[in-house]
Amino acid sequence: MRLPASRGASRERAAGCRARAGRRHRIDWHRARHPANGFAQHDRHLIGCMYGYKTELEQEGASMSASGAEMTAKPEGFSGIVTQVKVPLPFSLKWVNSYILRDSRGFTVVDPGLHTEEALAAWDAFLSEKGIRYPDIHTIVLTHQHPDHYGLAGLFQRRAGAPVLISRRSYAYTQRLWGKGRTFGADLTSLFSEHGMPAEQLEQVALHLESFVEKVTPQPDVTFVEAGATVSMGGLDWIAVDAPGHAGGQLVFYAEERGWMLCGDQVLPDITPNISVVPGEEDDPLEQFLNSLDRLGGYEVRLAFPGHREPFAGFRERTRELAAHHARRLDGLAEMLAEGPATGFACCERLFGARIAGNAHNLRFAMSETLAHLVHLERKGRAVREQRGETVYFRASRT
Ligand SMILES: [Zn+2]
Ligand SMILES: [Zn+2]
Repeated sequence: MRLPASRGASRERAAGCRARAGRRHRIDWHRARHPANGFAQHDRHLIGCMYGYKTELEQEGASMSASGAEMTAKPEGFSGIVTQVKVPLPFSLKWVNSYILRDSRGFTVVDPGLHTEEALAAWDAFLSEKGIRYPDIHTIVLTHQHPDHYGLAGLFQRRAGAPVLISRRSYAYTQRLWGKGRTFGADLTSLFSEHGMPAEQLEQVALHLESFVEKVTPQPDVTFVEAGATVSMGGLDWIAVDAPGHAGGQLVFYAEERGWMLCGDQVLPDITPNISVVPGEEDDPLEQFLNSLDRLGGYEVRLAFPGHREPFAGFRERTRELAAHHARRLDGLAEMLAEGPATGFACCERLFGARIAGNAHNLRFAMSETLAHLVHLERKGRAVREQRGETVYFRASRT
């Protein structure tokens, strides 16, 4: 199956555009706030109820600051091309941002959300209010494989008859998790066990993982899209850019003409994206994430459309803040190890404390993220792994 209006495009093209994009394209904030057509007036439509939210796992305890005045700019519309749709989630993130982009052929939906009754009801209400039918959706694009983005893709495909675009690496991950003969759950609990997680928590994690299967069913027949491809959405050309670290295989999409970036969960405002060591992706995901942030920071982005929270300006500054957050976390962990060897689970409990008690979802992400930091310290020569029987300990490097 061909990509819609797809054509090969090199990363060099994206890089070469950076300098020009900032000068040529400026968002007209006045027009954006007072859009000429009715559709755009609802661009920041909130699905379902207004969710109050507290800071979530990754943010708590971190000394994150908003990145100044630019970050607080709240555009009311995106020139009638992109509509942010907040799709409810049954965990602390509260919602995932889906984006629906209109062009002359109909609509593209980016990251439709998790398959729950609430999410589907919210979508049905939104589409009917807008007079959009499912068959009007001609393309479904997934930034990455996490269930809060991927879960509804199969159902949308059935209703719309549209191709689902995802990277090959992201799709492989979905099949390890939710495909026939899946082994991810067993592999993850064995990884966590090796790093000191007790049996009771391992069981919670395994049950929690399995509970996602129904939330990603039916699964889509996919069309692969890879970094460097250009995908037409909303009448604009978006270059797919490799963005690993948060999710291996994640793609973000850059519309140079506008300076817009659909950035998935790679760069989020207010909260820090989870960085996980998971089975099959143990090879220093934090290093990949930091390298990706560095590359993404080179793009001229006027407005970023993240997978969670609100669209934001100040994209480059945010990439730097995220890198600084991890530098602080790494220093904190290194200090912890200097007090004596510890397992990944012991470090995780000290870092996240009560926030992981009795919450399998938070526990899983906290544990995977702690391991990501420990592995990174190890690769940088700041920590050393010690095998004691079945269990792995980390200690501070003596150099
Ligand atoms: Zn994600
Ligand atoms: Zn997400």
